[in-house]
Amino acid sequence: MSYLEIAQWVMRQFISGSEISPSDLWSILQQSYSPRLFGSEDITPIQPLSQGLGLLKLSNGPTLAFKDVALQFLANMMDHVLKERGQYLNIVGATSGDTGSAVEEAIRGRERLRIFMLSPHGRMSPFQQMQMYRIHDPRVFNLVPDGTFDDCQTTVKIINQDADFKSRYSIGAVNSINWARILAQVVYYVYGYSRVMTDQSERLTIAVPSGNFGNALAAYVAGKMGLRVRILVATNENDVLDDFFQTGVYRVRKGGQVKVTHSPSMDIAEASNFERFMFDEMGRDPVRLASEWKTLAERGEIMPTRTTVSENIIIESGRATDAQTIETITLVFNRTGIILDPHTAVAAKVFYDRRSGTGFGPSLIAETAQPAKFEDAIHRALGFRMGVPASCRHLLAKEERLTRIHESDPLKIAEQVKQFIKANVD
Ligand SMILES: *Cc1c(COP(=O)(O)O)cnc(C)c1O
Repeated sequence: MSYLEIAQWVMRQFISGSEISPSDLWSILQQSYSPRLFGSEDITPIQPLSQGLGLLKLSNGPTLAFKDVALQFLANMMDHVLKERGQYLNIVGATSGDTGSAVEEAIRGRERLRIFMLSPHGRMSPFQQMQMYRIHDPRVFNLVPDGTFDDCQTTVKIINQDADFKSRYSIGAVNSINWARILAQVVYYVYGYSRVMTDQSERLTIAVPSGNFGNALAAYVAGKMGLRVRILVATNENDVLDDFFQTGVYRVRKGGQVKVTHSPSMDIAEASNFERFMFDEMGRDPVRLASEWKTLAERGEIMPTRTTVSENIIIESGRATDAQTIETITLVFNRTGIILDPHTAVAAKVFYDRRSGTGFGPSLIAETAQPAKFEDAIHRALGFRMGVPASCRHLLAKEERLTRIHESDPLKIAEQVKQFIKANVD
């Protein structure tokens, strides 16, 4: 089956025909996963690294990171449903980097969606700024306050607490716990499995660079659907998840404890999809889950008991320091000539560490971004600069489109954002 056929099959298990008809789903998929957007029919092709080991390349979309795979589908699906219902949706979000551009690229050109994206002034890389601020679309708005990413996020929360404003202006979100995003990510694990496995009694090992645990959760769902998998959850020095899988204790970090690393999209204090994973692992018992999460809010840590054991799924974890990430980029380049981005390198490091003990069968490393997005880390590892990739060069000649907000107090930023939304929504 082609990528599209696999996507249709996987998604049909979760989307009923009365919600979205099979032919509508097919056209949404065709629109989302085209060779024009992802460079080939394969959408997430596999690049061999060594005998039995491949890179599952998830970063061939418009913003050169794996979030495109989920967000292209999500935006088209939402646009379709909104059209059927005769509704519009205004999305308000905050970004510190990669998600912002992936959301904006996905919403660009959709009829029923608008995006108001907050990003902190002067705190994103030049490349990230170029990818976000040079999108020209009447429904894409970049709002750039002073302050930090946390201030932007707090602003979004403040706006969401204003129920009247939310309903009056049809305000919505597309955050990382959105189920449709996870679902779209399940597809590429089934695709990857179908391309490398010849013997179904064997187990596929998948190393996944993890932050909010969305991508690893998608691999877990694929396991629940019947694939035999070993999931290697790989974190950087922000190792909430590695801690949990090694010790059984889930301890969220405070904002100030989050380290800035070479793999910034994994710099998190708590993993927002972890709760959904535990729900399943606790036998889908909402009362038990709620009580654990109440304890978590009170004490900052829990040691939840997992009751459901799925024979299909083995989960292991590991972490890579910044120094190890750089070493791995150098090592893989010297061995293969392939340049890994720092997020993917974290997963590669964890894969090599764990494999030396057990020796895995067929294996994939989820490649989550293209290295050109992280020039400084690549320069440090390899001593040269990659430059702007060909697919982004057209942006160089474009002007920036953004609205500055000269405030850093979230309450004041929220007021200005609301005014801005009122002025730009009919
Ligand atoms: C978002 C992101 C991750 C982390 O994915 P999660 O689903 O949050 O675990 C890893 N790498 C890159 C490049 C990302 O953008």
